[in-house]
Amino acid sequence: MQPSLDFVYQSLPHHVLFGAGKLAEVKSQVERVGSRRAMVLSTPGQEELARRVAGLLGEWCVAIHPHAIQHVPYETVKAAMKDVHQHNVDLLVAVGGGSTVGLAKGVALETKLPILAIPTTYAGSEMTHIWGISKDGHKTTGRDSVVKPACVIYDPELIVSLPPAMSLTSGVNAMAHAVEALYAQNQSPIASMMAEESIRQLALGLPRVVAQPGDVEARATSMYGAWLAACVLDMVGMALHHKLCHTLGGSFGMPHAETHTVILPYAIAYNASSIGNALSRMARALGCEPMQVASTVQELSRQNGGPTSLRELGFEEKNLQRASELAAQKSYPNPRPVVQEDILFLLQQAWSGALPQQA
Ligand code: NAD
Repeated sequence: MQPSLDFVYQSLPHHVLFGAGKLAEVKSQVERVGSRRAMVLSTPGQEELARRVAGLLGEWCVAIHPHAIQHVPYETVKAAMKDVHQHNVDLLVAVGGGSTVGLAKGVALETKLPILAIPTTYAGSEMTHIWGISKDGHKTTGRDSVVKPACVIYDPELIVSLPPAMSLTSGVNAMAHAVEALYAQNQSPIASMMAEESIRQLALGLPRVVAQPGDVEARATSMYGAWLAACVLDMVGMALHHKLCHTLGGSFGMPHAETHTVILPYAIAYNASSIGNALSRMARALGCEPMQVASTVQELSRQNGGPTSLRELGFEEKNLQRASELAAQKSYPNPRPVVQEDILFLLQQAWSGALPQQA
């Protein structure tokens, strides 16, 4: 059934270069942005890549800041700002995953400097105007167009080094954005079209990436799916799945992408009875029947060595009750009403890794 055509469509401007070898164009993009004093940011583990990018920029790179860490602690933003001021930086070049892009966003929020992002995971932060900073044990998130990268270079050759296990969970993390976009309260036909294609490309690409991590074509397929997912994440609001993952990550220290991978099939199963059209689109993208969407997503993880239970991620059973209370505390848009007892059942299922039961 066609959903009613009644929507608001908003997309912030963006400039994207996509393709194997596109990193070579980084200097021309810095020039296009109008910068001559770039600082390259990365995690300590990706410093070598940061140095390679700095080399491509030559005299236009005035600093390298390889100190990004998970969850963007405010102290890391302050440290990066010190380098920004010391070197009179006019552009932040973020090379890496969501943590590195997140650090650049934290700095941009304070300084209004533009960002050029070169993603090396499927997380998708590079396409959004969403920021997140941790301070005093809490992660605060917000939306501000100033943090949205002015330019994004997707080069599938750069993601070849992401280990298969991380590729799988990072890819399912991306898929979760597309899944929730299909039943978002502020969904639009454009976002839904991109979301369905995102699921299709990720489901096609990820098994090939896990089997052959060096297959650049498979990396491009999954990166394309992740890009589409990131676009829709920026356009529409997320629902139950993201609320659960945020709760498990924020209050119980659960790992980001792995938790998304475990929870997604259960979130789909929870909402299945209320998302007929969205479920059909997911089924079409995954090549299965609508009633099999949740189990197909779980199989994607299982067959490719990904986690399927919170137990295997180290979550303690005694915390399930508290997690369900926290996740049901505040109301937020979700196709099926969020009822604490039902969320507890969902989490119990996810803890044990049971087959997700679509209502
Ligand atoms: P990450 O950036 O923390 O990277 C994980 C690890 O992988 C790091 O050690 C990194 O150095 C390494 N790594 C990254 N790319 C690699 C590669 N190609 N080869 C080898 N190692 C590589 O993880 P992530 O999953 O990309 O990002 C997660 C974070 O991003 C979370 O904090 C999440 O909240 C945030 N996020 C934000 C948004 C947003 O819109 N603001 C969207 C998605 C995710």
